[in-house]
Order: sequence, then C-alpha cells, then structure tokens
Amino acid sequence: MLINIHRHFPQPPYPPVPEGILEIESRYYGQTGAAAAAYCSVGLHPWYLKDINWLAATQWLQEQIAQPATLLIGEAGLDKVCDTPWAEQLRAFELCAKLAEIAQKPLVIHCVRAYSELLTCKNLWRPTQPWIIHGFNKHPQTAKMLLEAGCLLSFGAAILQNNSHAAEALATCPADCFFLETDDNFQYTIDNIYARAAQIRHCTLEEIVLQVESNFLLLREK
Ligand SMILES: [Zn+2]
Repeated sequence: MLINIHRHFPQPPYPPVPEGILEIESRYYGQTGAAAAAYCSVGLHPWYLKDINWLAATQWLQEQIAQPATLLIGEAGLDKVCDTPWAEQLRAFELCAKLAEIAQKPLVIHCVRAYSELLTCKNLWRPTQPWIIHGFNKHPQTAKMLLEAGCLLSFGAAILQNNSHAAEALATCPADCFFLETDDNFQYTIDNIYARAAQIRHCTLEEIVLQVESNFLLLREK
C-alpha cells in the first residue's frame, strides 16, 4: 500500500482517492469544508494564527485529536518567512506538541528557516512521540542534524527535480527514517513520488513501498 503521509485537497469536487493508497489529509484550525480523506492530521498551522481564539482552537484540536481518524497531529511548527508573530507561532507549536504527547500521536512539522529553533524546542520539551519534518528540501547537512536529533523526514515533489537538496538528502537518509508526500502539489501523484524515490535510492518500487509501510507501522507503535 502507498502511504501519502501529508497532503491537502484542492477545492471540491475532490478527485476520488485511488484504491490502495492511504492518504493523510492535513487540516488546520479555521479551515472550512469537510475532510475529503478517510484519515487526517490536525494542527494549528503557523500561517493561520491571525486573530486566533486560543480557547476555541484548543477545544477544536482536542475534539479532532480524539477522533480515531486522526492519525497524526499537525501540521504545526515554525516559519521565519511568514508574518505571524514569533510568540504566537511558538505558542501554537508548543500546544500541538503537548497535545501530541497526551494523545500519543506523532507530530507533523512545518519548518521554514527555523531548524535550530526547532531543535531547541525538541531539547527543551523532550517529546516521546516522533517528529516528522514534512516537505524536507534542505541541505543533507541539515538533514543529518535533524536525523541525529531523532527527527524523521518526509519528502515530496522537490525530489522530482534533479540535483535538488531533497533528492540528495533522500539518497542518504537511513531507510527507517523517511516518508513520502504530495503536500499541496496537485500536479503530481504519490505514485510519481514513489517512483522517483526508488530511482534516487537505487532500489525497486516494491522495496520503497514496503519500507515506507514498515516506517509507518513503526510510527504507530511509538
Ligand atoms: Zn502541508
């Protein structure tokens, strides 16, 4: 089975989810419309914290997290490029990370130019749940730093570009530390990402499928 660990959906009507693919739809507080996929991750996205009602957001998160269809928490995280005040970003991120610990569900992380701050949080909060850095497309040295800190990486459409940092990082990522995703890219399917990942890692498509499946099962045991 193919696993798309992090995706968004375009405006309805949604394309049908193909058979044999487990898709995890990322939903954020304030998002309108119903979920399209059978499984979700829920979080407070750093882009969408303007005028947030913290009490309502916390209640919404707790309700959503309690749903069996919610497999992961997030996306949540830190973004140096968006204009949300840093203190609000940190507050939202910490809330999601704490709720992930309480619910014992892994956290999907959105991180833009804030990797050292992210690791400072990890050192400080010492989470037991896995932290998955989604849409990774940074230098393999940054990948190494994150992996050494115990983070997992998820790779998306960036690996389709030759010589991208993402492709380089995926080539050397330990087999049990990565996932694949399409995020908000609707031009490519998760099949495209899997096929390219197999090429980059010099293995068969089946090996990649089994590896990501096993990584996913492991995730749920933590
Ligand atoms: Zn996303």
